[in-house]
Order: sequence, then C-alpha cells, then structure tokens
Amino acid sequence: MSGSGAAPGPEAGRGTGPSGPDSAPSDLERVRELSERHLFGTYAPAPVAFARGEGTRLWDLEGRTYLDFVAGIAVSSLGHAHPDLVQAIAGQAGRVLHVSNLYHIPEQAEAARLLAEASGLPKVFFCNSGAEAVEAAIKLARKWGRATKGSEAVEIVSAAGGFHGRTLGALAATGVERYRAPFEPLPPGFRSIPYEDLEAAEAAVGPRTCAVLVEPVQGETGVVPGTAEFLRGLQALCRRHGALFVLDEVQTGVGRTGAAFAFQRHGLEPDAVAAAKGLGGGVPIGALLAREEVAAQLVPGDHGSTFGGNPLACAAAAVVLRTVCREPFLARVRELGDRLRAGLERIGRKTGLVTEVRGAGLLIGADLTLSASAVVDAARERGLLVNAPRPRTLRLAPPLTVTEAEVDEALGILGEALESSAASHTELA
Ligand SMILES: *Cc1c(COP(=O)(O)O)cnc(C)c1O
Repeated sequence: MSGSGAAPGPEAGRGTGPSGPDSAPSDLERVRELSERHLFGTYAPAPVAFARGEGTRLWDLEGRTYLDFVAGIAVSSLGHAHPDLVQAIAGQAGRVLHVSNLYHIPEQAEAARLLAEASGLPKVFFCNSGAEAVEAAIKLARKWGRATKGSEAVEIVSAAGGFHGRTLGALAATGVERYRAPFEPLPPGFRSIPYEDLEAAEAAVGPRTCAVLVEPVQGETGVVPGTAEFLRGLQALCRRHGALFVLDEVQTGVGRTGAAFAFQRHGLEPDAVAAAKGLGGGVPIGALLAREEVAAQLVPGDHGSTFGGNPLACAAAAVVLRTVCREPFLARVRELGDRLRAGLERIGRKTGLVTEVRGAGLLIGADLTLSASAVVDAARERGLLVNAPRPRTLRLAPPLTVTEAEVDEALGILGEALESSAASHTELA
C-alpha cells in the first residue's frame, strides 16, 4: 500500500475512485467541470483531486498515491487521518460542535492553556484563520497605541515581501504590490520597510508607531528566514518607542520550524503573536497570543468572532499542541528538516539546478535555475506534491510527522523531477 507509492502506477487507473467503476466522464473531469462552472476563479488548481490520506500520503480519485510535501500549505501538521485527531474531532462532534462565546467553552480554555504553555504568552484570542489573527493584532495594536502613546500613535510598520492575509487590514500590512493594487484604497496607517533593513526601520518607527508586524520567516515570499540580528533589532526599536513587537507566525508557528514558535529560536520576546495554519491540523482555527498587559486593551465589545474558539476547532488544536509542542517531537522536526535540506543541497551540487536552500525545521525553500512550476508538475506526475511560492522557488512543508524514509523518497522523486524538467527545458530552448 503506502510503501510502493512513488510513481503513480498504471494499474491504479480508473474504477478505483469512490463513485464506482468506469464512470465516464472520469470523476476528476466531473469535479473540474463543476468547479469551473460554479466556483469563483480565485484559484488555479492543478489537475488532481484527493479522495483520502494517511500520514504523509494522499490518494487521488483514481487511486494514485502521492507524498504530500505541501501539507495544505503547512496546515496538516499531524499528516492525514492522524488517529488521535480523528478521535478527538469525532468525539467532539458527538458531544457538541458549537455553542457561542456567550458561554464558557472548556475546550477553548484548554487550548488556550496549551498555547500559553507553548509560547510563554499567557493570553489568547481565538478566530478562524491567519488573516483574522492578523486583523485582531492590528486592532489590538491600534488600541494599545491610542491608550499608551496618544491618539496619533496608530501606525503599523511591516515589511516588503511580507504576507499577512487577504482581508483589507491584513492586505494593508502585506508588502506584495500585486495583491494590493486591485483593491485600493486600503485602510491607511501602514508603512512598509525592506525586510532585513534596520536603518529603514529606525527611520520608520517613531511616536506615531503602535506596532511593528513582521514574519520571523517570510513564507509566501519563498521561505526567507529573518536574521536574529534583524529581528532583535526590531524588538529593541519597539521597546525604545513603546510600540508593540508583533510576529506573524501563521505559517511558522506550532512546531513548523522545529521550535514551538519560531521566535523562540532567537530568544525573542514578542508582545503578540498570530498563529493559524498548523494549529488545528487541518481544522480551521486562528489565534492571537499576547502578553497580559497588552491583551488587557481589548475589553467586552471590542472584538469577537462567532466561530472563534468553538469546541470542535479547539478540541483539534489541543491534540496538535499536545503532540507537537514538546521534545523529543520538536527535535525530530529539526533533524528531519536538516535531512531534507542536506538532501536538497546534495541534489544542487549534483545537478547544478538548485542554487540556494533556505529555511528552518520543516519549512524549506529551494531556489532553482529553472521554472519551479514545471518542477511542481513533474514531481506531481511522479507522486510528490510540492509547491512554488515564487516562479523559481520551491517550498517544502511536509507534515511534521513525516518519516526519514519519506524524506528520502521525496528527495529521490524531486531529483528526477528536476532533471527531467531541465531536459525538456533544454529541448525547448
Ligand atoms: C497564510 C498566511 C496568512 C493568512 O492566513 P489565512 O488563513 O489564509 O487567512 C497570514 N500570514 C502568514 C504569514 C501566512 O503564511
């Protein structure tokens, strides 16, 4: 079963999909047709759909298997169908799915306790996505600025190349022009500095600044880790000006980088941290964590979310946090990340097709000399899922439960995909 799966075998073929033998058109064709007819064209999906998964492996509608080194963009932290997560979700669904924040929610209190333990930040606001966690951070920072520095102190400084989400506030902080331009005017009160430019930060942060908001590793830009010097410099600057030092750990948080939170790798002490992607292991959930005194700015009526922190999402998050945010689990993430990075570097030396490998833990970017989307397609055809956040950059973010054997298998497939893409590239040229 799962051991064989590198190359999608021809024996897999039709008739093994869930909707019965030899349906024509194929299950995938029907999904594509329906999607094109009825869904907004906001995504450009690859020609594949999945029926089920187990661990690092996925099976498509035709029964072909894939190693999932995308993990839903750093979301499926425990892999697919993890027994503890399945049991917690099913059990919670059988008790109560939703009640509202009009009442105390035991599962929410427990997830908050676990997050506080993992991060050292004692207060948590739950929401449903990364963008919402960032929105909560923006509102918190504005109220903090007004209360502690005066009514002018509402400006948020963020970094070029940073990604904070698609809502208007999060977009205003996002430093990628093509995401922003079509939707202007965006909310005012945001300033952008180049990432890694402390001099620009010095010039931008002042009496009007309520917060600096950056990613410790810029994920969507191609996995660009911030240096300890830059991040510590920003933190010092914030302290000096009484501004909040806010980290967007939506992609890096909850074990992804081999620490519970990436800020811990550099001994940082942020005032607030946004988390989301990996937190629910695939169940939608976001969270803003903050220091006691900072969180106290938001009082009843200031902020809220109907679904935020509901029992289902929090029961899932509790399983993820209990599994991931402890040793030796995190040490394994670091070891597997090292193995994957070393393998990519080896492929680079052998083929000359990989020019740089970056990242931390199991969040890895690799710059290529050729089109990353061609390599993504070639890898998928060979049974490996990776994605391309930039035209010449691959991102690898497997489940944190990935095994050594799966890392090695993925490296083998990726090596082949690179060489075959390079060969067809040369034929075209
Ligand atoms: C994905 C991401 C977001 C947005 O999260 P959504 O759940 O898509 O709203 C924000 N910040 C970072 C760093 C991200 O990687």
